Parts: sequence; structure tokens; C-alpha cells
Amino acid sequence: MPSYAKRVEPFGTTIFTEINQLAAQHQAVNLGQGRPDFDGPQEIIDAAIQALNGDSANQYAPSPGLPSLRAGVARHAGVFYDIDVDPDTDVIVTAGATQGVYSAIMGLVDPGDEVILIEPYYDSYVPGVQMAGGVPVYVPMHPPNWTFDEAELRAAFNHNTRAILLNTPNNPTGRVYTRAELQMIADLCIEHDVIVISDEVYEHLIFEGHRHVAIASLDGMFERTVTVGSAGKTFGMTGWKIGWVYGHPELITGVWRAHQFITFATNHPAQEAVAYAFTLGNSYYEEYQALYTRKRELVMQVIDAAGMTAIQPEGTYFIMGDFSDVFAGDDVEFCRHCIERIGVATIPPSAFFSLKHRHHAENHVRFAFCKSDETLEQAAERMRKLRSG
Ligand code: GLN
Repeated sequence: MPSYAKRVEPFGTTIFTEINQLAAQHQAVNLGQGRPDFDGPQEIIDAAIQALNGDSANQYAPSPGLPSLRAGVARHAGVFYDIDVDPDTDVIVTAGATQGVYSAIMGLVDPGDEVILIEPYYDSYVPGVQMAGGVPVYVPMHPPNWTFDEAELRAAFNHNTRAILLNTPNNPTGRVYTRAELQMIADLCIEHDVIVISDEVYEHLIFEGHRHVAIASLDGMFERTVTVGSAGKTFGMTGWKIGWVYGHPELITGVWRAHQFITFATNHPAQEAVAYAFTLGNSYYEEYQALYTRKRELVMQVIDAAGMTAIQPEGTYFIMGDFSDVFAGDDVEFCRHCIERIGVATIPPSAFFSLKHRHHAENHVRFAFCKSDETLEQAAERMRKLRSG
């Protein structure tokens, strides 16, 4: 009987699917997958309904994306980061950031090229690099503060390095890279003529005292950076799978050539609605941050109730808790224990590390706090059982 390609042999099932299945089986409160249990603004949903009932949105959208949405992405980059983006040549709308990152890799990385990945990384990056025939090179961030080491990063660059794939604000650590950290990366990329694929899907999920810096806005970086965003995160509609990639047309041409043959075009009515979402004023982003500032306090109560320790996230809706005071075992064993015995699902962060650096996460677990207040309170209640043994 024929079987699947060797290319996909190492991939297995994603940790999100695995944990969702286990959580459902044990009726656990699910703080695993970053899947909000509430929707983004009703007026954005209404814009999608209007598009569905209109006379043009139920057929193919233009391959690079709707002009109105590309204009929205370009305007947003100008307003928030002072980056000059041409909507006609510099933006591609993708089926979520996942396809944005994948199309960027396929359009920019050749077989044998090295791609630097900072760990922990979002789980689609390694398969993406491997499917392109690229070679992942790993640089870990170190607990408890999740900073990377300049010497380790520098050592990863060589004449085979084609790209570095970054994610700030960072899933799963909640780190927001400082301007100095990004400048250090930028200097290395300029020195070695390396492309940056910058996954900034959590750009608006930033807490007080921190600021998101787009690496493309640093001197000399626009021409070597493609930036990836997601309506799933920015507007709270993960089910719509609308993302975007913007950057210098020389790089975006590569992304688009791949994009044309991966999906050609993405969901048209959802693009109309996301174009509308980009017309919302600053108050939208302020309310979004206020909402998650409150939820971050609630998730800190989950951590406290469990008797765990954690550094408050600087951004994103994820927090890494250290369980070494309350459980002897690794992160996968801890997750299984919590789902089966405590009734709370979380994600073991070793899934976001190479085998070599997996031990960096062995005492940690990732909670997603994009959940209703009631869900977070219920999780805190259940986690108390952990402390009492
Ligand atoms: N990004 C989400 C997370 O990290 C999940 C996305 C997915 O399920 N692939 O939880």
C-alpha cells in the first residue's frame, strides 16, 4: 500500500490538537491552545455578514489580497511604526500568519540555506523550514527571564545563513524584545546580509511598561525584513485565518510567487471585514490591551493558586509557569497530570524547542489566558488541588 512522503514523516500531530483531544476526553478547563473563547468586535462580524450578502465577495479575491485590506495593512504600518509601505507592491494577504510564514520561507529560502530560529519558537517554523529544504539553526532563550545570549546568537550566523525567523511579542514566553535586542539582531543581519522573517502577530498585545518595536523600522532593515501579522490575534478572529506579510517589493515578490501556488487567494468576505477592522480608531487597540491586562491578573491568580511561580508576561496572552515547587517530573508529564487529575489543560513548552535545548523548558508549562473571566476563575479553583497534593 502506498504511504506518505518522507518529508512529513517526522511531523506527527501538533501539540495543540493533541492537548485539545486530551482536554475534551477529560472535560478539562482548556488553557492550552491560544484559542479565545469569546469573539472579536460585533461590528467586524457585521462587516463580514454584509460582505456575504453583497454582490462581489463570494467569488475569488485578487491573489495578493483585496486592495482595501492591503491599504489597511500599509496604513497601520505607517501609523504605528512610521514604516512607508506601498499597498500595491509591498503587501500580500495570506490564510493566517501560519501561511504567511510558510510562504515567506518558501519564497525566500533555498534548499541548503540555514535559517536561525530563536527558541522557544512557534511550532510551524521548523516544518516550514524543513519543507523548503532549509536547515534550522537553533538559538535558545534562557529561563527565567527568557533572554538570548549575544555570543550564542552571533555564533549562529555564518556564510550559509539566509534568514532568521523572529517572534516578538513572543509565544510562549510573553517576552517583548527591547529595541536594544532587536538592534543587536539587526546589526548581525546587516553584517551577514541576512533576511528577517518577523512574526509580529501579537504586536497589539502589549502590557504597560513595554513597547513593541517593529524590526523593519530600524535603520537599514526594511529592505531585508518581511513582517507577518494576523487578524486572528489583532482582531480576535482566529477562525477566519486572515493574515498578511509586508516588506520590500524585492522580498515580497518571492513571497507572492509562493503564495500564488499555495492558496492563490484567501477568504474574500473575511478580507472585506478585516479591511473594515483596520478603519477602527486607536480606542479599539486601547480597549483590547485593557481587556488583556485584566485577564493577565486573573491568570496570575491561577499561577498563585497552583503554588507555581511565573514572570509576568510583557506581551501576548501566554504565560510560562514554573511548576518545580509542586511537581516532580517533566513538562509533558505535568501537562498530562493536570488534565487527568486536576482538570486543567496547558501546553508543554518542550514542543517549542529543538531536542538539544528542550531541557530549558522542562520545569515550565504554558497557560493561554485568552479565555473568559469565568474560565480563568474556574481554572484557579481547580489548580488549588495541585498545591494541596
Ligand atoms: N497559536 C496558537 C497557540 O500557540 C495555536 C495555533 C494552532 O493551534 N496551530 O496556542
